[in-house]
Amino acid sequence: MVVGAGPSGILLALLLARQGITVTVVEKSTEYDKQPRASFYSYPATFEFKRAGIYDEVAACAFHGRGVSWRYLDGTKIASLPTGIKRKEAEIISLPLDELIPLIASHLEREPSAKILLGHEVLASGQDEDHAWIDVRSSAGEQRLKASYLVGADGGSSKIRHDLFGKNFPGRTWDKQIVATNVRYPGLEKAGWETSSNFMVHPEHFHMVARMTNDNLLRVTYAEQVNLTRDEMLARQPGQFKAILPGSPGPNEYELINFSPYKIHQRLAEQMRVGRILLVADAAHLCNPFGGMGLTGGFADVGGAYDCLYGIYAGRADDSILDKYNDVRREKYTTIIDPISSSNIRRLWDPEAIEKDEFIQMLHRAETDKDVAYEMAGGATAVMHDFTQYYDKVVPVSS
Ligand SMILES: Cc1cc2nc3c(=O)[nH]c(=O)nc-3n(C[C@H](O)[C@H](O)[C@H](O)COP(=O)(O)OP(=O)(O)OC[C@H]3O[C@@H](n4cnc5c(N)ncnc54)[C@H](O)[C@@H]3O)c2cc1C
Repeated sequence: MVVGAGPSGILLALLLARQGITVTVVEKSTEYDKQPRASFYSYPATFEFKRAGIYDEVAACAFHGRGVSWRYLDGTKIASLPTGIKRKEAEIISLPLDELIPLIASHLEREPSAKILLGHEVLASGQDEDHAWIDVRSSAGEQRLKASYLVGADGGSSKIRHDLFGKNFPGRTWDKQIVATNVRYPGLEKAGWETSSNFMVHPEHFHMVARMTNDNLLRVTYAEQVNLTRDEMLARQPGQFKAILPGSPGPNEYELINFSPYKIHQRLAEQMRVGRILLVADAAHLCNPFGGMGLTGGFADVGGAYDCLYGIYAGRADDSILDKYNDVRREKYTTIIDPISSSNIRRLWDPEAIEKDEFIQMLHRAETDKDVAYEMAGGATAVMHDFTQYYDKVVPVSS
């Protein structure tokens, strides 16, 4: 049983259902998410799309980016990710969640062992020796559902995590405000930048501007003053775009499609496995969105949870493999996702330090050293882990 039909829950359910495993996805909303959030996916995501049998369809709908640069606010380039590297792990594709989730769901709906219950809110969860359970409320009333395992894929405010650990979600909240927008603006193409994704370095106006669809929809995620209301931020948005976008456009020169302020956090749940209950993706950990580490790590959790649950189902592993899941996935967050995503945002607000930044220096080295370029192009694979190596073995886990 999976709680949450966000990208992580729906993909995990599809992977399990493809193996004939009975799986129910329980989602409180009556429709799939349309917020301007994840859109850019690197190898850990495309690897799982391939395993779920949806890669070709995702790739056909997706925008295939033309590279990533870091720039000063006036557009001057500081450095770019290496391009033209012949390595499958180098691919970055973009498909907004409001297209990706329905695409995955359309496959899941066709799986005979899968069920999606939209409009079903989990009110409570728990477990006993034989089952995990959830109490859900829908228009038909309240009921208790049971399953061998329960996966909390219910996002940053996870009810499943809350039922396990209360309000405790260790980590920190950044003293920064960001606003994510989707916008149609031809001015980015006219700027003549060779890269379609651009991180703009400025103490006050740091932001990301990137093309994310084939029909030229842009994601602009920018810094705002802290302590403003949503209405105040909305009122300031035209001034912000004038200050930050190439061509300094007025409101009649672009179409604002979505506008969503976010507080940003770096947090990791105390455990990602407690008995029959697992946590994946945002329910387990959060990071700021610069550099797209959030769902990248989330999909790596999904792949790991799938391999562990399939191993148990197929009799190839006992359930101590889930402790391994807990240990490895938490370590990946602590040693890779948290430090890298934290550096990703910090380098954006300090133009004085940018040339001394270790990552920027590595990008410069990659311009002339093919080995460094090759290494960097596959960097995202570090968040992955192959749990099938523990099949048919006694699994060593830390205490
Ligand atoms: C501005 C922004 C840009 C981002 N860009 C990227 C990017 O480019 N690449 C990337 O990798 N990551 C990115 N991220 C992060 C990414 O969006 C998240 O990591 C991802 O959406 C998390 O997916 P999820 O399935 O874990 O949770 P969610 O998408 O939050 O889904 C959780 C689901 O659970 C449901 N739910 C919650 N509570 C209950 C309940 N009690 N009962 C039943 N259902 C419930 C919710 O309705 C929801 O549908 C970005 C984030 C932001 C804010």
